[in-house]
Amino acid sequence: MATTTAATRGKSSGIKVTDAPAARGGSVGTSGAVQNTRWQQADVREVIRLSPSIVVLRLSLPARVDHLPGQHYVVRLTADDGYSASRSYSIASAPDDELVELCVERLADGEVSGYLYDELQPGDQLEVRGPIGGWFVWDAGKPALGIGGGSGVVPIVAMARHADHTGAPDRLRIAASGRTPHELPYYQELRDYGATVALTRHPNATPGVLGRRLAAEDLAPLMDGAATAYVCGSAGFAESISQQLLMLGYPQSRIRLERFGPT
Ligand SMILES: Cc1cc2nc3c(=O)[nH]c(=O)nc-3n(C[C@H](O)[C@H](O)[C@H](O)COP(=O)(O)OP(=O)(O)OC[C@H]3O[C@@H](n4cnc5c(N)ncnc54)[C@H](O)[C@@H]3O)c2cc1C
Repeated sequence: MATTTAATRGKSSGIKVTDAPAARGGSVGTSGAVQNTRWQQADVREVIRLSPSIVVLRLSLPARVDHLPGQHYVVRLTADDGYSASRSYSIASAPDDELVELCVERLADGEVSGYLYDELQPGDQLEVRGPIGGWFVWDAGKPALGIGGGSGVVPIVAMARHADHTGAPDRLRIAASGRTPHELPYYQELRDYGATVALTRHPNATPGVLGRRLAAEDLAPLMDGAATAYVCGSAGFAESISQQLLMLGYPQSRIRLERFGPT
């Protein structure tokens, strides 16, 4: 069984990439993010199908541990015959939300995302462990630049919500890229936040939305020498954006990558 619970290592040497979670039980990393790797049964409170490919899950956890934006949960599905599959999903909710929100993009032949989109209903239980991750996290204390592609915007949305709730929206600038509005999770929320939004397969793009891929010229105005850049998306997206940031003179020590999916 192919599992994608661990991010792949970056090709750009010197740029930090999220590692696979290794700790057992709760632990606090140097970032101050608390990690909890014990499994628990979450109550599925809401299932919101935002589009034909994106579903938002809102969960109530009996033993919830406070998270920081950028952390994720692992979801485990187990069949009657004992076969199980687990996948990682970033947290979309701000820490002060009473529920934990995940957002899943349904892949055409996706084992876990297909089930979560097609089958999961409010009232179901879902086995999860988390929050996990101690590197790709932002506590709103320092300036940040969040750049997400496709479902890679999910942790960036958690950062935006946290920035709003803590009164620090000036500390977080965002650029987001997707194919169409339906395929970019939280499209309207990102626009309302003031993010630079690019839609690569939406030629008649709305005014204020780029109808092409994000380019260096779009990132340059968002750059702040002191900000840490959080880049999240497919391997290709993360590589392309990190190269653009390096080209613009962004120090690689301040670029953090999280990659979803196959290399
Ligand atoms: C730290 C972390 C956080 C993540 N957060 C999110 C999130 O917030 N939302 C979200 O939707 N996903 C997220 N992912 C990806 C998620 O863990 C799964 O990989 C994804 O849902 C596919 O699982 P699946 O079982 O449906 O597909 P699988 O059955 O594993 O794969 C089906 C097919 O799709 C390909 N594939 C696998 N993953 C991807 C992908 N991400 N993109 C394109 N093709 C893929 C496989 O190579 C295979 O051909 C995250 C991954 C990591 C490592």
